[in-house]
Amino acid sequence: MTKSKSPTGRRLALIKLGILGTLSSFPGTTIIASTTRQDGGNDDLPHLREDDQRARALAYTDDAETASARSDDSAYCHNCRFYAGDGAGQWAACSLFPGQAVNVDGWCKSWVAKTG
Ligand code: SF4
Repeated sequence: MTKSKSPTGRRLALIKLGILGTLSSFPGTTIIASTTRQDGGNDDLPHLREDDQRARALAYTDDAETASARSDDSAYCHNCRFYAGDGAGQWAACSLFPGQAVNVDGWCKSWVAKTG
């Protein structure tokens, strides 16, 4: 019997809460419950900048290939559980960075494999 490496819904919720708690500790940061549109479209969202304080805290990069802390070569924003894109564009919302779009080829330390 193989055990799934993907976190359960409850464990994933706890991970998100912990990450959001960490991000919300930065001065001037307001965490909004969710600004992700259901259709994954994010044409109107500003792009997350790598030098953003929250992005730096999670070592976010627009190009996963350049991420020295990345241990899984197959990990990208587009196959992350928190990514809301539908594959149509280069940028889409991430539930960890409300109100901003991340790059489909990006990555950060909070990457969790998308399932299902
Ligand atoms: Fe968001 Fe996942 Fe990309 Fe991190 S790896 S920025 S959590 S979509």
